[in-house]
Amino acid sequence: MAEEQYRSTLAYDADDEYRPEPPAPPEIPAWKDGSIRIGIHTSIAGNISGALEIAHGLGANALQIFSASPRMWARGTGRVNEAEAAAFRARRKELALGPLVIHCNYLINLASPNPVLRARSVQAFHQEIVRALALGADFLVVHPGSGCGGPVDAIASIAQGMRQAARGLKLGELRILLENTAGQGSCVGSKFDELRKIIDACPDLNLGVCVDTAHTFASGWDIRAAAGLEAALGEIDRTVGLGRVAVVHVNDSKTALGSRVDRHEHIGKGKIGIEGFRGILNHPALEGRAFILETPIDKPGDDRRNVAALWKLVGKVVVATGRDGMRPRPKKRMAAKQGGKRRPARKRSK
Ligand SMILES: [Zn+2]
Ligand SMILES: [Zn+2]
Repeated sequence: MAEEQYRSTLAYDADDEYRPEPPAPPEIPAWKDGSIRIGIHTSIAGNISGALEIAHGLGANALQIFSASPRMWARGTGRVNEAEAAAFRARRKELALGPLVIHCNYLINLASPNPVLRARSVQAFHQEIVRALALGADFLVVHPGSGCGGPVDAIASIAQGMRQAARGLKLGELRILLENTAGQGSCVGSKFDELRKIIDACPDLNLGVCVDTAHTFASGWDIRAAAGLEAALGEIDRTVGLGRVAVVHVNDSKTALGSRVDRHEHIGKGKIGIEGFRGILNHPALEGRAFILETPIDKPGDDRRNVAALWKLVGKVVVATGRDGMRPRPKKRMAAKQGGKRRPARKRSK
């Protein structure tokens, strides 16, 4: 018996031949495992890595953040400190959160007729790309903008501004997504063919699209029931192509169908309603997309409840593990803002 064993270990095995090691396959991030991705826009107040803890604690496995204050122009170069960025990337990897979506500053308007504001917008968008690359973001979402010269001029101005902002930068895995809008005022992007025209004018940028459910509804697509959802998805496919849709902003709408007014509401509490979202989250044409909430925080726990609502719609129970999520905005500021000409502070216009 012993001899038998000894002999067998010496036997020639073709597999023992020397062969060079094949090159290591590129590392596939954990979030690209094909599992459903539910995320939420999370606050970076205090510490940018804190956003990761909040999202994870709420039971989300994806997230969206601003990479700087969304309503102020960044000072100086607007860069993220490299040590902070490295800590953020490492922690995100540990938590297997993804995709990471960054939403651009609201002040950016690449179609602004004011040359100073437009130049500032191009510069700020350039800084957004630089920060998104530093943080290892997968997607950078931007609102197309609004101009006074009509959609044709605005589209040309947006496309030119995007190309200018991206000049000299290697985008790598980062993809810029144009978000559809509710169609307020002279905003470009409430029609999907306008987004297509911007995409076509930026062939080197490989642009994608972010579809916001509240904006889609407010712009006139009745996505509450199957027929309307099919029609909207058909239009998206005919224009930008469903393959370009990487992220869905999942927001219910306070405002009526076709209102062209952008007001986000909790999932199931607005005009779209829970059955509408059941259809959207489970639609085969949207499989593999990241579903990201931008719902208001009116009272503590709203973020956790909205995340749980989306998991429930896809037939999963995910228990939030974090002690607390995001806090509502102080009432005083809300009242002050609502009294002014600006949009109410309670909703997030993204
Ligand atoms: Zn919005
Ligand atoms: Zn949005």
